[in-house]
Amino acid sequence: MRPATERVADFVSGFVVAEGCFTRTGSPPKFTFSLALGAADATTCTLLKSLFGVGFVLRSPRRKPHYDDEVVFQVRRMKDLLTVIVPFMDEHLPPSYKRVQYKIWRAELVDYWDHRAKRVRPCQVPGCAEPRRAHGLCRRHLYLEERDRRVRRDGP
Ligand SMILES: [Zn+2]
Repeated sequence: MRPATERVADFVSGFVVAEGCFTRTGSPPKFTFSLALGAADATTCTLLKSLFGVGFVLRSPRRKPHYDDEVVFQVRRMKDLLTVIVPFMDEHLPPSYKRVQYKIWRAELVDYWDHRAKRVRPCQVPGCAEPRRAHGLCRRHLYLEERDRRVRRDGP
């Protein structure tokens, strides 16, 4: 979140306690922070998006005839969750059942991130930290090796 006053943070965390959702779905898991409001509160979702500087706002039609249309502020990018949403919630989400749910979600998110990061092995070229794609090499080194092979075969 951009530098914000405590009042703004309180305002936002109040909405999160009431309407925020921390979800994990599918396999491999997708982690989502979302906050759904009635269409009448659409400006609040837009405000959240600009305050956090990440995520997007979706409009979804009413799920049942007597329901209001929904507007959802949603963040799904792993990097945005880890670098923006988690630090904000750690600092501002007040003790509540929502915070308990958040802590469980956060633990799963961080655990998944750690293990996925470990599964992707680095390129075997010494000093290269890019993830390997094929033949033990990252995309760039694979390309360079292919080019060298062509040069050796066909001449420069
Ligand atoms: Zn490499």
